Amino acid sequence: MIKFVAFLESLIVTLSCFFGSVFNLPDKNVRALIDNNGGLMYGVCHPNEQYDKLKDAGLNWVRFDIPYPYNSAGEISQSYISFKERCRGYAENGMKVMAVTPYPKDYVSIGGFNPAQEIEKTKEIAVFLYNDLRDITGAFQITNEMGLLTFMYPLTLEEAATFIGVQLEAIDGAKKANGDSFMIGYNQANVSASKDLNNLLKPYLKYCDYVGIDLYIGVQSNDKASDYSKRIKKLYRQVCKPVIVTEFGFWSEGGSKTEEEKKAILGYYGYSSEEEAIADGEKFISKLPRQFRNTLFYEFPGQEDHWAEIVFSKCSGHFYGQTSDKTLENVGFTPEGQAEFFRRVIAEMQKLNCVAGMIIYCCQDMEICWTCGQSWCPYETKWGIFNLDGTPKPAYYAVKETIR
Ligand SMILES: [Zn+2]
Repeated sequence: MIKFVAFLESLIVTLSCFFGSVFNLPDKNVRALIDNNGGLMYGVCHPNEQYDKLKDAGLNWVRFDIPYPYNSAGEISQSYISFKERCRGYAENGMKVMAVTPYPKDYVSIGGFNPAQEIEKTKEIAVFLYNDLRDITGAFQITNEMGLLTFMYPLTLEEAATFIGVQLEAIDGAKKANGDSFMIGYNQANVSASKDLNNLLKPYLKYCDYVGIDLYIGVQSNDKASDYSKRIKKLYRQVCKPVIVTEFGFWSEGGSKTEEEKKAILGYYGYSSEEEAIADGEKFISKLPRQFRNTLFYEFPGQEDHWAEIVFSKCSGHFYGQTSDKTLENVGFTPEGQAEFFRRVIAEMQKLNCVAGMIIYCCQDMEICWTCGQSWCPYETKWGIFNLDGTPKPAYYAVKETIR
């Protein structure tokens, strides 16, 4: 009988989210989260410290990573102390932080244990972070984009789900003891492995206040703004939880490179052709920036002998700083195209009753791409709604106008 009632309950929930997504019906859990946050949550990733400018655009949330809290001697780490200082800065300025808990590789390399196997240690750290940060942040996202190898390393998908699940469970317990509504959840990239991740996390969904998704639809593809709604509704049907779009964004610069531009980049490394660089093998790889070599190490382990070829096949976009020219509704990778992207996509997502918030990727342009270490690569450098010098781009004003 109890089993039957539980089955009936889960069926009702599933059906309500199914029809809710089809007819865009109101969801009381989403409403409660929005009310608790004083409105739909808008934020930026990798924030700068221009508190007033951000708030003026309606961006009251910021999202960034929590460093592993300890050093290898087991003491509180300096980077964690600096992180808390930063959080206090936002809190004192009336802003909230969506703090992303550390990656699995930090537990392994600094803590010296596998966080999916030594579960009690993982739980202990999660509860410590919650107690230590709840007054100066506002929400946790449990780690980031498990399912992507770079972030998941060295865990399997099953281990990654355990890693997330036990942290959610432990923090939920601590929250209940405090009678706290502190928001917790996890996120995913828009990749096929995420469906499996969500299935593996089903037993832990009851601890989630939200489920997040990172969406880059219309970046190197000819999709429409309405495709954002389609993808978000699909997730909502799967997890039946308020959805927060934890990352979305668009480059203000990008597209294909000319043969001359590509030759100049090869020339920078001292080669006149790709064949020449490949023939130089290990020596060529040693000339690449450290970040590029790290990427090869994590994404193509055991393939050292082929790294030079991989640079010009799977990694050629980064090497040349070249992207596809395809964009959302053909708005183009220009500062004005980026502004138009945000106008259309934010307006689209604002219409969805299952969405509780959205966080722009990202706040400010970066000097070098963290995947390849090169300044001419737009992949991780041109997402900002602020330029590298901190001045607002057209996208900043577009975001402000669309939120307000
Ligand atoms: Zn790059």
